Amino acid sequence: MADKLTLDIVTPYGHIFTDEVDEIAASGSEGEFGVLPEHASFLTTLRIGMLTYKKGAETGIFFISSGYAEVGPDKVTILADSAERSDDINVERAKAAMKRAEERLKEIEKFDHARATASLERAIMRIQVVEKRTIR
Ligand code: ATP
Repeated sequence: MADKLTLDIVTPYGHIFTDEVDEIAASGSEGEFGVLPEHASFLTTLRIGMLTYKKGAETGIFFISSGYAEVGPDKVTILADSAERSDDINVERAKAAMKRAEERLKEIEKFDHARATASLERAIMRIQVVEKRTIR
């Protein structure tokens, strides 16, 4: 019986994280889900959100853009469009992206609305991930 989970986070920009952890919580398209070792296998899409893991007394927090999660009894693989550990998020960059997206949403005839909305969501979530880290 597995008592640990291997968490792998992979993006087109590189292999972001791999480690053995005790539990994981992530943002699926259908809602938040939690995974402990020996969880039944499933595959789900992910929405822009947060992923947290616990490993002993340590908690890790990641920003995850949309993608997929493959859950197995001893392994969770996250394939995301982009992902950053909370410590690697550049808040100024996220604030600039948020401002840019807000400006674009005001000029709906010039910019792709869905694209600007997704960009805004990513920026807000990155800022929330950093805030969650700092209030821990
Ligand atoms: P931006 O408009 O600032 O590029 P974005 O949401 O369009 O933001 P993504 O397409 O999600 O960016 O990611 C492109 C790359 O830049 C990825 O490697 C991602 O991890 C990185 N990245 C984007 N925003 C940040 C940030 N605020 N801090 C650190 N890395 C970031």
